[in-house]
Amino acid sequence: MKEILLCKYGEIVLKGANRRYFEDTLCKTLRFRAKHFGNFEITRSQSTLVITPQDEYADIDGMFETASKVFGIVGISRCAVCEKDMDAIRKTALEYLPAFLRGKATFKVEAKRSDKRFPLNSMDIAREVGGYLLSAIPTLRVDVHHPEIIVHVEIREYGAYIHAGQFKGAGGMPVGTNGKAMLLLSGGIDSPVAGYMIAKRGVQLEGVHFESFPYTSERAREKVFTLAREVAQYAGSFDLHVVSLTHIQEELVKNCEEDYFTLLLRRYMMAIADRLAHKRGCGGLITGESLGQVASQTMQAIGVTDPMTSLPVFRPCIGLDKEEIVQIARKIGTFETSIQPFEDCCTVFTPKHPRTRPELSKVIEQQERLNFEALVQEAIDGAYIERIRTEF
Ligand code: ATP
Ligand code: MG
Repeated sequence: MKEILLCKYGEIVLKGANRRYFEDTLCKTLRFRAKHFGNFEITRSQSTLVITPQDEYADIDGMFETASKVFGIVGISRCAVCEKDMDAIRKTALEYLPAFLRGKATFKVEAKRSDKRFPLNSMDIAREVGGYLLSAIPTLRVDVHHPEIIVHVEIREYGAYIHAGQFKGAGGMPVGTNGKAMLLLSGGIDSPVAGYMIAKRGVQLEGVHFESFPYTSERAREKVFTLAREVAQYAGSFDLHVVSLTHIQEELVKNCEEDYFTLLLRRYMMAIADRLAHKRGCGGLITGESLGQVASQTMQAIGVTDPMTSLPVFRPCIGLDKEEIVQIARKIGTFETSIQPFEDCCTVFTPKHPRTRPELSKVIEQQERLNFEALVQEAIDGAYIERIRTEF
């Protein structure tokens, strides 16, 4: 039996003149991903992308799985295709649908006839298929008002389509249709979630990770690469800049008051991310900050780090509780990696009593004990890029 995927797109339909561009981007993403699963044809038809395997080697399960992580698609139906003939339709329905109907007590059939040359009208088709399923599966009942599952039969130009409900797509907008932003990616729970949330709005990611070798380890770095690849399953491939803060942190320890270490370090991070973002054409920064979560995320602390960039800083977790962030992390599959216990550059040399209500003038006074510009430039000169590829 031949199975295809029908992908419905959401908001992009609303985009008027830009619609074509959104559709093209979405198709390009799907075509790129499809290459890993065999030979597929991807075509458009009325706010739907139709993914059709071209031979028996094409992996439709793999394609379904990856399509459900593509932003811009709100729903995906797996769908059997057969000849436009009632015998073939009945036979295919009975072969294909039981897997979807298992455990369901009530159903109804909805039919649509786009090809008006088909001899039966939609009502007749629904009645025929419904009756046939009822007699073949005795535990089923029809409920036209509140069915547990709706079976769809569509008579289209090239054949009859049979499917039972839509699976939820990833939603959002196609990545690349809304600019590019620089994600500050740590090994924690929050920043991968932040990257996912902004990519969902159509933003192409680029990343920066700060480490402090040898105070942070090779394994801590590997963990961040793993997290980045997990985010890339949704966000697509991206470049991750790896920047060492070792020298900066050593200088901070030698020259500044301990209470200010974290704040000063965060100012360096924002300044470096800002430079990299400008150099690489990013229109914003993304962090996983959540208001009040830790000392460096009080309103005042964010207030002293924000001025280090002229770009908008997107903080999609800012109003979420930890539990809500964890929920998203579990859903997108980053949580288990995030909780592996490796050190982060923020956790080495942490002050015992960090300032929670810092005054900007005091922070600047501390910062002036070092040659800020030279240290920033040195860190940027020493950075390298790790290409993060979407894993299938
Ligand atoms: P996360 O769970 O994302 O690590 P957190 O709760 O540990 O966040 P902080 O350590 O205060 O919070 O970091 C706040 C934000 O700063 C992070 O969400 C991330 O965007 C950025 N950040 C922190 N450490 C790093 C790092 N080593 N490399 C890149 N960005 C970082
Ligand atoms: Mg962290």
